[in-house]
Amino acid sequence: MRTITWMDTTMTCARCGSVGLEEGFIDDGRSGQVAWFQGERKVGMFGITKRSGPQRPVLAYQCPQCSHLELFTGPPD
Ligand SMILES: [Zn+2]
Repeated sequence: MRTITWMDTTMTCARCGSVGLEEGFIDDGRSGQVAWFQGERKVGMFGITKRSGPQRPVLAYQCPQCSHLELFTGPPD
């Protein structure tokens, strides 16, 4: 298993096989880049998700040929 980085331009699309996925990120439009949290989601008072434990940013790569989106986690902040 190799490490994925933002500058990796040799990634191959799992759907159509094209090489050269475009890097990007997913944003919910309010709080910034979406993150992955380890373990089960826990909700505190007022229905707010408790954000504790290990987390990593979600990296999104788009195929310029078929628009397929591949998601990976980046290194911890
Ligand atoms: Zn593709």
